Amino acid sequence: MRRPKSKEFRKQQRLSEEDEINLLNSWIQAQKPDSGTNPMSLKPLPKNSPVGRLGDNTFSRYAGVVRFEQLPLSKKTKDALRASKFVSMTDIQRASLPHSLCGRDVLGAAKTGSGKTLAFIIPVLEKLYRERWDVEAGVGSIIISPTRELAAQIFDVLTSVGKNHGFSAGLLIGGRKEVAIEKESVNKLNVLICTPGRLLQHMDETPYFDCSEMKVLVLDEADRILDSGFKRELNAIISQLPKRRQTMLFSATQTKSVQDLARLSLKDPEYLSVHEESITATPTLLKQIVMTVPLDQKLDMLWSFIKTHLQSKTLVFLSSCKQVKYVFEAFKKLHPGIPLKCLHGRMKQEKRMAIYSEFCEKRSVLFSTDVAARGLDFNKAVDWVVQVDCPENVASYIHRVGRTARYKSDGKSVLFLLPSETQMLEKLKAAKVPVHLTKPRKELLQPVSSLLASLLVKYPELQLRAQRAFVTYLRSIHLQKDKEIFDVLKLPIDEYSASLGLPMTPKIRFLNRNIKSKAVSTKSSLVEPEVRNKENVLEGSRGKPATVVFKDEETENDLLHAADTSSEGNMTSTEIGELVNSFIKEEKAQD
Ligand code: ADP
Ligand code: MG
Repeated sequence: MRRPKSKEFRKQQRLSEEDEINLLNSWIQAQKPDSGTNPMSLKPLPKNSPVGRLGDNTFSRYAGVVRFEQLPLSKKTKDALRASKFVSMTDIQRASLPHSLCGRDVLGAAKTGSGKTLAFIIPVLEKLYRERWDVEAGVGSIIISPTRELAAQIFDVLTSVGKNHGFSAGLLIGGRKEVAIEKESVNKLNVLICTPGRLLQHMDETPYFDCSEMKVLVLDEADRILDSGFKRELNAIISQLPKRRQTMLFSATQTKSVQDLARLSLKDPEYLSVHEESITATPTLLKQIVMTVPLDQKLDMLWSFIKTHLQSKTLVFLSSCKQVKYVFEAFKKLHPGIPLKCLHGRMKQEKRMAIYSEFCEKRSVLFSTDVAARGLDFNKAVDWVVQVDCPENVASYIHRVGRTARYKSDGKSVLFLLPSETQMLEKLKAAKVPVHLTKPRKELLQPVSSLLASLLVKYPELQLRAQRAFVTYLRSIHLQKDKEIFDVLKLPIDEYSASLGLPMTPKIRFLNRNIKSKAVSTKSSLVEPEVRNKENVLEGSRGKPATVVFKDEETENDLLHAADTSSEGNMTSTEIGELVNSFIKEEKAQD
């Protein structure tokens, strides 16, 4: 048992802390590295070079510093790092800590799984310690993460590395009922780890919420937080923070946009990128393959993959919540022989956290949306990342595959590309992502569509899920920005519908009505011939069977040709796209 500490002891401790802080301050002051220097980006110097010289006539005393012990850090932080077995620094830590510890604004870029979290947690702790921050001082630092799970993970790192310090830290993430409780305690927290939405909620609603004295702002996964999805929230947050502060931005795919940086009013930021000269943009121990898989075979391929990897921990990315729900529910009923889990943004927060922790602990297959794409460190042990649907861009690909092969472990990933999406392959190669195109091994393919079809007969509610999955997939493709890769008109939608186990392509009355009325006024070629020729997929407004199918290029040309002789005329692909979109909005509103 611990003996109560005497007054004398506490006084002594305060004095020795004061001494330590003075020492740290003068150490940091005396050894500031030159601005713009990054020892990790330089080739090794000749053996007898003077200590600290960096070869380009700049100077950093930290050039040869490789262990945390050698940095000007408090004993409390050093002890905790040692206790967590953090001894040698990773490259991004070596490059950024000398700058961040002396209070500079930092833009840190390093591959996934390379230790960026400690690169910002350590300077946050040290800054508050050297400022002699205490509970009464209020909010000293704000760390923003794009997702709740990542925020929780950063919180865990902070509490373990900061365990010897007396700071209070709080996790402010949406979706929890305790917002009222949070409101009571938020002003007593020294470090806030939060998602943008919840932070803003507190700024707007919590009486006397005060962060006017805060010293350090961190954006983890900075490019994601700066992108349009969080624009409104971030601008509102920044407008309420003091201008005089240290700001640190970290990501594997870092922003260099002057506009973004201007929004954050950074002061001469240090751009520290440690893998820019690397031959690859992804971790070296990551093996990445790409397979061309027709849309109607994707589920067969995924099922076969799961059945042949029952001993692996696998993370599967799909493009929408509804697809995740359907594939998860359906595959679970088919008992593949490994536990299945799912994670998406529409789940209750407690459930999300529980799933995330379970997946960290146990071998299983986790079906997820991009909510798990960024930052998460699943105990270094994800064996496979399977991207069933093509990511929206190269950055998203890099983050998804970055959930495996973290720190010094290896990992594997596979991306299924539709024949119409093969442009993605070129884009990945251009961005230094070493992918290998392989042919699927047909003999291993275990078809699942007929099993799904029988399931849907047995479980009508599952049929509804399948229909929703179908529609949201079309929607997700239609909404993709990169039109060079994504083209909803090239999707074989009847075949896709059948592959989900659906007895017929979902009835889309609204779309059909619109097309009919459009067709009368604008003369449709792409659509109308199909309406005339195909049977029983969509129900026409007069109860007659009709269909709208967006075909591959060949068929599309056929249809266009047919239109030439038709009394009805042309409807552009954009118009059709708009129709799909408006229909989808209606579907969504009905949910
Ligand atoms: P990133 O944010 O760059 O993707 P993380 O900060 O999540 O990477 O770190 C990835 C993994 O590496 C984590 O499991 C973390 O504990 C481990 N790690 C980080 N720094 C070190 C270090 N200096 N020594 C050993 N392990 C480390
Ligand atoms: Mg990270």
